[in-house]
Amino acid sequence: MAEVLVLVDHVDGEVKKVTNELLTAARRVGEPAAVWVGAGADAAAPKLAEFGAEKVYTASSELNDYVVAPKAELLAKLAGENSAAAVLVSATPENKEVAARTAVKLGSGALTDVVDVTPELVTEHSIFGGATVTHAKVRTGAPVVALRPNSVTAEASQGAGAQEEVSVDLPESATSAKVVERVKQERGARPELTEAAIVVSGGRGVGSEDFSVVESLADSLGAAVGASRAAVDSGWYPNEFQVGQTGKTISPNLYIALGISGAIQHRAGMQTSKNIVAVNKDPEAPIHEISDFSVVGDLHKVAPQLTDEVNKR
Ligand code: FAD
Repeated sequence: MAEVLVLVDHVDGEVKKVTNELLTAARRVGEPAAVWVGAGADAAAPKLAEFGAEKVYTASSELNDYVVAPKAELLAKLAGENSAAAVLVSATPENKEVAARTAVKLGSGALTDVVDVTPELVTEHSIFGGATVTHAKVRTGAPVVALRPNSVTAEASQGAGAQEEVSVDLPESATSAKVVERVKQERGARPELTEAAIVVSGGRGVGSEDFSVVESLADSLGAAVGASRAAVDSGWYPNEFQVGQTGKTISPNLYIALGISGAIQHRAGMQTSKNIVAVNKDPEAPIHEISDFSVVGDLHKVAPQLTDEVNKR
């Protein structure tokens, strides 16, 4: 069975949930081989094996000192040498660039913002605010697929997890952009926005920089907090929490929109959420069209009631 390379997403050695989803998707296509860049592979390999990684390729931490290009060099080298069937990465902004660069090196194609992939490597994409589903397939070479977090349900399956060290010669062009500093995002105990199973977002309807009505509901549910661009542009919530076309793209199991109208640019970032709940005082707001459950009412009354109910359970 051909190998399917999976680029591992980890923060200081802690494997992100999306990697297990990628390994699960990879098993549909072939034999998953995780690709680890950085320190901590020894501790992580058994965990990757639990989701089917037959191999764990381990590359030097030095590759992390540079921006994207070295990872593309590594993936292209591994894919070429092992005749990989495909390369899977998570659809983060950084990894989408890795995907594009890897595809150029392989002479194949990159498919980004994928929400599903079949054993035949046909990918599914949700576009135009969820109004249209498209399917795509790369016709030449090993496709590089960037899958959105929470698109595939991670399922455990024991693999061998055999570690193999790999090295790659980096051309000068791959080391021209160096990472000078990494700043850890402070978000308290809340899950990361792109990884969270539940997201509660606030929009202009929140009415002020006091986002506690959104945060309280999020905390009662163990959810991440998101925001519309109107809320971010008003200075009510930090930019890194913006959901939408020019913000983060997310697919949680549950997305709760508080005081968000549902503009197409906002929908572009959350339309693939499995369940959408909207609280909006305007019955004509477009968000209701894509909601599974709508509450027409004042969020400052509805959200605290909901928070109280959840906290009671
Ligand atoms: P509004 O559209 O003003 O909606 C506020 C809603 O709150 C209304 O529906 C109102 O009925 C409701 N409301 C008010 N008070 C209450 C209350 N007390 N209780 C309940 N409901 C209440 N937007 C994004 O979000 N993300 C993006 O990434 C993004 N990228 C963009 C990129 C481009 C190139 C452009 C042109 C726009 C982009 N936008 C983006 C902006 C987008 O077009 C909208 O302007 C924005 O999403 C609106 O945010 P909102 O829904 O919070 O505000």
